[in-house]
Formats: sequence, structure tokens, C-alpha cells
Amino acid sequence: MTSIVWFRDDLRLADNPALRAALDRAEPVVGLYVLDEESPGIRRLGGAARWWLHHSLASLGERLRERGGTLILRRGPADRVVREVLADASATAIFWNRRYAGPEREIDAGLKASLREESIAVASFAGSLLFEPWTVKTGGGTHFSVFTPFWRACLALPAPRAPLPEPREVPGPAQAIASDALEDWGLLPTRPDWAEGLRENWEPGEPGARARLREFLAEDLDRYDRGRDVPSEEATSRLSPSLRWGEISPFTIWHETVATGRGAKFLSEVGWREFAWHTLFHFPDLATKNLRSDFDAFPWPELDEDHLAAWQRGNTGVPLVDAGMRELWHTGYMHNRVRMIVASYLIKNLLIDWRQGEEWFWDTLVDADSASNPFSWQWVAGSGADAAPYFRIFNPELQAKKFDPDAVYIRRWAAEHAGDEPPEPIVDLYATRNRALEAYEKVKQNR
Ligand code: FAD
Repeated sequence: MTSIVWFRDDLRLADNPALRAALDRAEPVVGLYVLDEESPGIRRLGGAARWWLHHSLASLGERLRERGGTLILRRGPADRVVREVLADASATAIFWNRRYAGPEREIDAGLKASLREESIAVASFAGSLLFEPWTVKTGGGTHFSVFTPFWRACLALPAPRAPLPEPREVPGPAQAIASDALEDWGLLPTRPDWAEGLRENWEPGEPGARARLREFLAEDLDRYDRGRDVPSEEATSRLSPSLRWGEISPFTIWHETVATGRGAKFLSEVGWREFAWHTLFHFPDLATKNLRSDFDAFPWPELDEDHLAAWQRGNTGVPLVDAGMRELWHTGYMHNRVRMIVASYLIKNLLIDWRQGEEWFWDTLVDADSASNPFSWQWVAGSGADAAPYFRIFNPELQAKKFDPDAVYIRRWAAEHAGDEPPEPIVDLYATRNRALEAYEKVKQNR
């Protein structure tokens, strides 16, 4: 009687409730990962995310094998592939940790209902969010649209459960089950191989995530509140890709941070991740539609492809913007403050639709996820939940003076700006700011 554990955004052994449930049956366990690029509505992974996924799956597969288990890789629409693997393994049960994006929920709910009718045991668990989206409600029973009361309400709920220990053994099936070869999925870039900066900067997989959390709590947490806004300080955890892929669970992060007796600010940032996912749960079209419909009246001009390309490649002539965009291109990551500044510049100074920026980040960020990315873009645009008002336009020069006063970050990523002949800006910051405010008048009229 074999059980299947369907791994999705939870590529870990520790604190994995679905894996725990399968092991509790004391029968063979088959780990499964499905690369689904065919089911309706599923967003195809971006390039940097595919790179991460490759390495994270390699690590998970190895860790399962070390414990006697196996990881089966299959490609195709999840509802079909899951049924095929259940049949191939003669399995009678399947377990997974929940997903919260619309198309994924539809697949999971459909499978759950139909498999149960066929007497397959199916159970799903909370593994990716500290608080289930339907449990956090306002006094009036609706969901929150402002972060501070949202997080207060979360903190008033029973504390997140303690993390589950990592299993020492994962008994595999008696007979071999066919699996794709990871290399055949083509997740890694080849011609050209642009992943050098990613390899230099990251160690995908559960052991790397655990080591990073320990290092952050021991060495960086103390300076987090003060240093988190200074891009050259590297005072933040850089756990976002590990959280995105579930190599570490938010429950582990929560409890290990609470145990230090500090870290309220850090945990409230993890709270923003919860807020973004809860928002996506209630608005599945977050990546394509303005959360605030009055923004539908915003008069985006025809797309200027040259300006978009200059932004993407870090050739805008604005030092902090260029530095940030090149950090992203090279490492698959960008510091949070700089993300806000480059996003504001694209939307407000270049007057380019936030969806263009969201797509570029989706393709280039190692931590790109279906909730935090569109949520944050809408936050900067002013069209989102608890968003910065549109008229508050970041001035990238003042921001640089404040958060990179010695140009350490700018010199690291866009050194020519600190030289004798810095590049010319492609647009005038002040004129474009005024143009943006005029365009915004249309939104105000639409209220
Ligand atoms: P830390 O400061 O150490 O925070 C700890 C964790 O909390 C992070 O790993 C992350 O999971 C979460 N977190 C922190 N800040 C935020 C935030 N503002 N919103 C949501 N979660 C947060 N984050 C993503 O994980 N994926 C994205 O695709 C993404 N896209 C973004 C796009 C834009 C335009 C902006 C402005 C922000 C975006 N963020 C995104 C949020 C934030 O920039 C990153 O989570 C953060 O920089 C990750 O670095 P860290 O792990 O060192 O963060």
C-alpha cells in the first residue's frame, strides 16, 4: 500500500506535514514532482525560477535517496499525471501541502474530489503559510485590505504550530517507477548560459536554506531593523527564494526567530508575504487586473520599447535604478528598497504599465512568486492593497542620497555613474514626474 507525496512549493523534508502524514502510514512512500506547463491558467515559470527549481529538485531527490526514498519527476497537466503515477505505483493514498493561487486550487480541488470517489485517500495540509487565508477576518467577516490590522489580527490568532522534525528514513517503493531525467527538462540556460551570477550567489536546496537562516539569526538579526533599508549592507535574510520554493517553512522561521527573543520587525516582513498570499487568494487575477478598479482609467501611453529595454538592462542613466536592474540581471535578486525605486521609476517616470515590470521581474527574479510579485507591483503603482498613494513618487536621486550616501551600492553595480563622464538620463525626472501626476488625474475623476 504505497502513498504518494506530491511535492510542489514545499521542496523540503523538515516540517513537511504531507510527508509526515505519508510516513505515519508506515508504508512505502513515493515522492512526486510534476512540471505542469499545460493546465489552464498555470503561469509558465520564468528563467531564473527554472534555474532554481532544477537545483532544488536535484537536492531534494538526493536527500530522499539518502533516506531510502525516491523522487519521481513527470511532466504534463497535473490532474492527468498524478493519476498516472498513482496507477504506476499502485498507490492508495496521496498527500500534499496546499497551494493558494486560483488555477492551482482548481486543479487540487478537482483531483481531491474525484480521487476520493475512487477510494483513494487524499489529504492536504497547511505548509506554506502561517495563517490560512480563510482564518484571518475583519470584525465584519471580510478580508483585510490594510496590512497593520491584518497582521494584528494574525498575531491575535493561536500561535503558528511548532515545526515537524526532519524524517531520518523515507521508505521507498519495492518496484521502480518510471521518472523523467531532470536534465531532460531543460530548466537550465544553455545558449547563452547566463546563470554564472546565480551560481556565484546562491545555494538552492534545503541545507542551504537552513544554513542561511542560522547565519542570519546569529549574525544579521541585530542590525536588521536599522540596516534593512540600506542596499549595500546586506542586512536582510535573503531567504525569499527558499521561502518561494518551500525549502524552508515559515513555521521554522517563525519559531527559530521567536526563540531569539527578538525579530518582531523581521517577522512582520514575513507577515507581508502572508498578506500578499491572502490578497491573491481573494483576488486570483492579481497579476493582470488592478485591485482598485478606478485605476482602469489610467491613460497608459503606447509602450515605448526603447525605454522598457533601457530599464530592463540598467541603461536609464539614473544611478540607483541602473544599479538595481543590473543586480537583478546578474544575481536574480534585488534589494527590497531598490525594487521599490526601480518599480516607481518604470511606472511613474517612464509611464510604463506596472504589468510590464511585473513580467520582467517574473522572468528574472529567483524569488518570483504569484503573490508577492504582482502584489508589490500594484503596491508601488498605487492600484493595490494598502498601496503607496500614486502621487508619492520616489525620487531616485534623493533615495540614493539617503540609502546609499557613499554610493557603495551604485559603484558595485553601475560603476560608470561614479566616473568622470556619467551617462545621460534618458528622461528628465522632474518633467516626467509632472506628466505622471497629470495622468493620475484621470484615475481621480474615475472615483
Ligand atoms: P527579508 O527582509 O529578510 O524578509 C524576510 C522574508 O519576508 C522575505 O524572504 C520574504 O519572503 C518576506 N518579505 C519581505 N518583504 C516583503 C514584501 N515587501 N512583500 C512580501 N514579502 C516580503 N518578494 C518575493 O518573495 N517575491 C517576489 O516576486 C517579490 N517581488 C517584488 C516586487 C517588487 C516591485 C517589490 C517592491 C518587492 C517584491 N518582493 C518580492 C518583496 C521583497 O522585495 C522581497 O521579499 C525581499 O527583498 C526579499 O529579500 P529578503 O529575503 O532578504 O527579505
